[in-house]
Amino acid sequence: MTLSCPRCHTPFVVRRRRAQTAAIAIAGVAGAIQGASSAITETKGKSDPMGVIAGTILGGLLGGAAGCAAGAAIGAPIDHALPDNFLCQACGYAFDGDRMDPALT
Ligand SMILES: [Zn+2]
Repeated sequence: MTLSCPRCHTPFVVRRRRAQTAAIAIAGVAGAIQGASSAITETKGKSDPMGVIAGTILGGLLGGAAGCAAGAAIGAPIDHALPDNFLCQACGYAFDGDRMDPALT
């Protein structure tokens, strides 16, 4: 299906993904902090400082990646429920594409 802008009728329409973007950012940062702090806890007491640093960075990266995936999963259905979730790139008009066409729901 091709969605077009109800105002200028161009097909240059994008999904806004506001909740998904916010959820990915929040969950990504939270996951990175969680991953890094758990890596610090795991490596505590070890005398190798490079191992601690490497573990912290790796833990942060893994936690951040897991958080981003979780944020994307959480944000997608919220975006679907939000009003004006489509944006026309030609005229900047925000509209509710899902409710306009019953076939999309
Ligand atoms: Zn438009």
